[in-house]
Formats: sequence, C-alpha cells, structure tokens
Amino acid sequence: MSGLSGRRAPVNRLVVLGRSSSRPAAPPRAGEVWLVGAGPGDPELLTVKALRILQSADVVVHDRLTPPAILDLARPDARLIDVGKRKSRHTLPQEDINRLLTALALDGLTVVRLKGGDPFMFGRGGEELEACRAAGAVAHVVPGVTASLAAAAAAGAPLTHRGLAQAVTFVTGHAASGETPELDWTSLARTNQTVVVYMGLSTAPAVAGNLMAAGRAGSTPVLIVENASLPGERRVASTLLGLAQAVEGLDGPAILIIGETAALADVAPPVREPAAVPAALVGGVR
Ligand code: SAH
Repeated sequence: MSGLSGRRAPVNRLVVLGRSSSRPAAPPRAGEVWLVGAGPGDPELLTVKALRILQSADVVVHDRLTPPAILDLARPDARLIDVGKRKSRHTLPQEDINRLLTALALDGLTVVRLKGGDPFMFGRGGEELEACRAAGAVAHVVPGVTASLAAAAAAGAPLTHRGLAQAVTFVTGHAASGETPELDWTSLARTNQTVVVYMGLSTAPAVAGNLMAAGRAGSTPVLIVENASLPGERRVASTLLGLAQAVEGLDGPAILIIGETAALADVAPPVREPAAVPAALVGGVR
C-alpha cells in the first residue's frame, strides 16, 4: 500500500506544492458542495486538488467502498458520513443523498462528496450536481482518475495505440434493470477500437456473446483488472471466447478492456515498491 495510507503526519506534509497551497487553510467559500473524484483506491492517485479540498471539508460524504486510507486524509475534526452503510447494506437512495448534500451546504458547511474514480464516469455525479444547483447550493467538480485508466496503467495496456486502436468507448455492463444493457453491438464489434466495460463482471458472458454475434472475433484479447491500484489487484488475460470462464471467481470491482491492445498487458502479479513521498512534494515543510 502506499506510503500515504492512514498516517496523518506525512500526509499533512504532502499538502505542499508551493507556498500558496501549503496550508490546509480556510475553505474556499462557505456553504458549498465539492464532488471530488477519489480515484480508483490508491490514495496516491488522488489529485493534489482533491487532497486540498478534502482537507478543507467540514463534512465528507462517502461510499461504503471508499478506502480508509483516503478518509484518513480528511481533517481530523471533519464529520464523515457513510451513505453506503445501512442495516440492509443498501446504499442510501440517490434522492436522499442529494437532499443531504444540499441541506449541509445550505447550512453553511463545506461538503465534500467523495466519488470513486471520476464523478462523471458512471458515478451519478451529474445527478448530484443538478440536484445541488436546483436547490440553490454552489457546487463544483474535481475530476479523478477513473478506474479504467488505472487498470490500463497497472497492466501497461494502452487504451489507444497506433495501428491497434484508434478509438476507445466506455460502456456500462449493467443496465438499471440489472440486465445486460442495450448497446450498439455492431458498432462496438468493429476492430481497431477498445471497448472498456465498467460494472461488467456479472454480464461478461452476455457482453462477449453480443460482441461475437455482431462480428468481433472470439480471439479478440480481453484484459480483466480487479481492484485496480489496490493491494488486492488481480489481472487476468483472456479472449472474448474465454471470457465467461475467465471471470469466474472474481467478485471485486473490475474493469474489462476488450480489444487488440489488451494483448500488450502484463498480467504478472503487481510488484509493489515501498512508496516514498517525493522530495519535491515534501520540501520545505518540516
Ligand atoms: N466513477 C467510477 C466508476 C463507478 S461505477 C470511476 O470513474 O472509476 C463502479 C465500477 O467501476 C465497478 O463496477 C468497476 O467496474 C469499476 N471500478 C471502480 N473501482 C475499480 C477498481 N479499483 N478496479 C477495477 N474496477 C473498478
């Protein structure tokens, strides 16, 4: 795990890039909602801006899967609200989350709504932003590293690559109904493009079947990355034909990268090097 995990002292030293941002300081303005991309899980993949805003928050509203190492970066006196933890393990309904965010902001608090990956990539961030605006609360968005970019980076499988993929399409494998979504399989089946599937583990066999029925070769390489950037990261190389079998036994959050570039993936177990806070970030703050 990264050197940032859970330890406040080094983290405070991290808030640093130059004098102007070297203080956790006063919130940018009172009474605002910040939809902040928390990245795929590794705290080192937070942006510097995400870290700064997180450290200015009075309240942090987060999901069940937000890693503790990221929550540890909030101000020690910040209130943490888990909208994923309820008796039945159901998440709070989206409307209730929207109401909570706006009520807190209209109360004058600086609210960080932490979203996994990027708030606008299959994250319902758009709905939360609309709700805040409709209620008259000031809201901002801080982008984050979306899971598929972390997955591609971990395995060294580019999503576009000269001669192999001139386009990439991000799709969800999970329709609101729980079924396989209605996608334009004919267009997705064309070669020389990468198809990235979020929430696609349970529907992977159907996704592969639809792509092959629309003409994509069964030999098309597929990379599966489970828990990208986290200590339990797993990478599996497969093909469309073998996908149904390849996903068996995987149950963590996973990304499917389908296309010729997936063949470039390194699926050896990740080597984790001890993380050191770069001197350039630490400099001057002792
Ligand atoms: N907004 C998020 C996506 C939310 S949808 C983002 O930008 O990444 C939830 C899906 O994201 C999961 O089902 C899985 O497909 C993917 N995901 C999230 N975190 C992941 C991780 N660490 N490794 C692999 N996939 C992940």
